[in-house]
Amino acid sequence: MNELSERFETHEAGDRQAGEKLRCDACPVMCYIAEGRTGACDRYGNFGNRIVRCDPVRVLDYAVERGAPLVPFGDEPWDGELVNTGRHFVTAIGSGTTYPDYKPAPFIVSQEVEGVDLVTVVTEGIFSYCGVKVKIDTDRHLGLETATVRAQGEAVGHVTTGEYGSQMLSLGGVHHLTGGSKSEGRATCETLLELCNKKPVELTIDGGATVVVEAGKPPVIDGQAEHRMRVGCGSATIGMFGTQWRGLVDEVVVVDDHITGVVSEHQAGKVLGWEDTGIRILGRKSTPGRYFKVSEPGLGWGGTSISDPLAILGDWNAKKGARPGLSLLMVSTTGEQFAYYELDEALKPVEKPFPERLRKSVGLIEDNCEPALCTVLFVGGAGGSLRAGVTENPVNLTRSVHGLKTYVTVGGAPVYVWPGGGITLMVDVTRVPDGAFGYVPTPALVAPIEFTLRKDDYLALGGYEADIRSIGDVLARGGEYFNERAVAAAMADNPWPPLVQLRRAKPGSSP
Ligand code: SF4
Repeated sequence: MNELSERFETHEAGDRQAGEKLRCDACPVMCYIAEGRTGACDRYGNFGNRIVRCDPVRVLDYAVERGAPLVPFGDEPWDGELVNTGRHFVTAIGSGTTYPDYKPAPFIVSQEVEGVDLVTVVTEGIFSYCGVKVKIDTDRHLGLETATVRAQGEAVGHVTTGEYGSQMLSLGGVHHLTGGSKSEGRATCETLLELCNKKPVELTIDGGATVVVEAGKPPVIDGQAEHRMRVGCGSATIGMFGTQWRGLVDEVVVVDDHITGVVSEHQAGKVLGWEDTGIRILGRKSTPGRYFKVSEPGLGWGGTSISDPLAILGDWNAKKGARPGLSLLMVSTTGEQFAYYELDEALKPVEKPFPERLRKSVGLIEDNCEPALCTVLFVGGAGGSLRAGVTENPVNLTRSVHGLKTYVTVGGAPVYVWPGGGITLMVDVTRVPDGAFGYVPTPALVAPIEFTLRKDDYLALGGYEADIRSIGDVLARGGEYFNERAVAAAMADNPWPPLVQLRRAKPGSSP
């Protein structure tokens, strides 16, 4: 028997104890764990002949007033002192789970906040149906839409619709987690876990680029770190900077894979009084001064495949204003690539040293570009049985969330709940405390989730009244799988969850 299987033999549901080993029932794997060892996910262990959750429950501490300095307690074990306001928020990080879902959530915590009796129900959800949406700020072409994205050689997602100046990936989901081979499911789970815990992950796109993605950090594309995201499309760039170029150069072309802009033809240029230049762009004209498909997408200028911008120009037309000496600026949408030309006697553009008078305008484009970052949003559904840990009548929770009576958070971070059926939520992983996400080898991701609502609303939706405990009691006595607790400062941007919304839900208050 190898070390791993010795650590967590799995069995059918049955006895709580097999020989010297205890059964963990916090997920469907149901490991039998020997004393002093942990189970397959390393989240639960058998210590002192008791199954315990190995990580401490994370309790957030909020300052007295919004904007006041936060008190950093890091991950130090809580010393029993009630600190600051007593306004703590018990997150689901380290709390344990409701699996197999017949029992109430691990912690149902009551607390009075500004005269409102609130209840927060916390649990670590097991998400077999979850994924991440990744936004990569780059002009560069990463791969065709629908191209397969791989990690460790396994398919873990696909390229999806680009959004404005960013490339988008859709990773994970039930088909990759459970619908493919074992190694596909494992690679998908590992990829999601690393991304959600803000770790770097290398992804390869079929027929496209290799990109290292890390939440909140610049993407690294084919070994090169990206620095800036585009200021806008080529047409928008013309609109924004047309006045800066007036009188300094006769023509400006902003090279862009999506919409290449030409100032003399563009509406903005016309209004500003730019003269015709007889330029011809090799691309599909959309509207005056706006061209699509000047090249194939790639890693070149403005997300095109070209390294020589003259490749997108046809012959110049003398009858429409072209003349020897006419000056031309070509620039990309990030201002990182630029070149200056003048037409010779044969009306051919010849590159000249870049004139000082144009440096400021090109610098302005660069200055207006925001830093290129990767954004990772965890997407999960608090559907099915997870809701049963909150109320005996699960659909009531869904209605309460959509009715804005229940405020949902992930590790204390605010979420966006999709309209429509179920509780499908998205959260920016950079707003979630470090190390909040875990996994189980079914495979599925484990994510903290908290539901906060007024106590009277909680009781009205069929909540577990007998299991409500005061925050002081929770901090003092812990719970079923309790190990220890850590008090951490709340992340600066995250409001104390209920205050924003639940005040609105007070009877008689205006929305
Ligand atoms: S994988 Fe983890 S949660 Fe699941 S039974 Fe084993 S130790 Fe418990």
